[in-house]
Amino acid sequence: MDPQSHPQYPEPILPRVPKRALLAGQSAIVTGSSSGIGKAVAIELGKAGASVVVNYGHDTKGAQECVDAIIAEGSRAIAVQADVSKEAEVQGMFAAAKKEFGTVDILVNNAGLQVDSPFIDMTLAQWQKVIDVNLTGQFLCAREAVREFRARGVRPEISCAAGKIICMSSVHEVIPWAGHVNYATSKGGVMLMMKSIAQEVAPWRIRVNSVAPGAIRTPINTQAWDTPEHYAALLKLIPYKRIGEPDEIGRAVAWLASDDADYIHGTTLFIDGGMTLYPGFEAGG
Ligand code: NAD
Repeated sequence: MDPQSHPQYPEPILPRVPKRALLAGQSAIVTGSSSGIGKAVAIELGKAGASVVVNYGHDTKGAQECVDAIIAEGSRAIAVQADVSKEAEVQGMFAAAKKEFGTVDILVNNAGLQVDSPFIDMTLAQWQKVIDVNLTGQFLCAREAVREFRARGVRPEISCAAGKIICMSSVHEVIPWAGHVNYATSKGGVMLMMKSIAQEVAPWRIRVNSVAPGAIRTPINTQAWDTPEHYAALLKLIPYKRIGEPDEIGRAVAWLASDDADYIHGTTLFIDGGMTLYPGFEAGG
């Protein structure tokens, strides 16, 4: 049997649109792309034809692997170290991107971390670290991106928009999360920051959106999938009954950054196997 066919659908199921380089001629910065979702996003942007700045905090090896993977796909890439919570380092990263690629067309605000603690014991340092990286870091990078997009304007031969910003949010922009108050607060903040920036910069043809992953198999949440017992407990929260993979986020981000998504603005795309569908009610409540 033809592997593409399905018993109910005797004809092969083929994509209607031929594959094409959705982001040819564009350059992107992906923060925190030495690992996990950011790395997969950077590689998918490279596959779509973009030149990519692979930003990283400390993991030089992971960043180089990501750069090598993008170059192997035939696109350009450089690694740039910068702590996204430090204003001067963010500005240095944008300067490095412009020096290498001329401009920046796409920012993926991905860098993020968790510092978990019961609320009653949470220290100011634990609160501040997560807010600094997950929220202030996204603010600093988005502001530099808007400055670049606004100064350059639209180049119709490259893209309908002057620039695109995609913020990596989480299902926890809407689902409260006990034991992770700092993290959920940061992602709730990302939601209204994204929407408020989107409202403000739309007249300059700058598109701003978020992607909100559910449970994706990365180092940030190893304890949620590393044993059969943990994985079984996780699946109770996912109607689609499987964990997500980083490249599934990568492909969605590449599409959202492309002109195929040009009228999508100020919205959050949840990629979560239905985690936000109140799975506790799946048996009728
Ligand atoms: P990860 O730990 O693999 O990746 C996080 C990346 O951010 C790493 O490359 C890390 O070096 C980088 N980073 C951390 N602090 C930084 C800083 N100050 N400056 C620059 N880079 C820094 O985890 P991940 O799961 O790939 O997470 C990526 C993003 O996706 C985060 O924003 C996270 O909140 C979000 N997210 C992940 C999941 C999931 O299930 N994995 C779900 C929802 C949202």
